Amino acid sequence: MHEMALAQGMLEIVEATARREGASRVTQVRLEIGTLSHVAADALRFCFDAVTRGSLAEGAELAIDDVPGEAWCMPCGGTVPLARLGDACPRCGSYQLAVTSGSEMRVKDIAIA
Ligand SMILES: [Zn+2]
Repeated sequence: MHEMALAQGMLEIVEATARREGASRVTQVRLEIGTLSHVAADALRFCFDAVTRGSLAEGAELAIDDVPGEAWCMPCGGTVPLARLGDACPRCGSYQLAVTSGSEMRVKDIAIA
């Protein structure tokens, strides 16, 4: 499962950060998930609960911010909104698009105790 690997990667980042800060517990993890990233938030929550069991992030709240998809359109010479990968430019219909935002998932910050 794609989300399980992502949750494990997240936990590594969270644990490394918490250790560096000398934290005993992580209370919240804030994530940014791009709408083009194909990450299912519900599945990710489930996996996060599973991988954090027994770690210092056990029971931490998972807050998820959606990052809208955006792409640079060559013919338009500007940034346009992109709902899905593979879609055409909503302004001119071109497929000469380079995704600039919304294709990633990242840990934005964590709250520790
Ligand atoms: Zn365009």
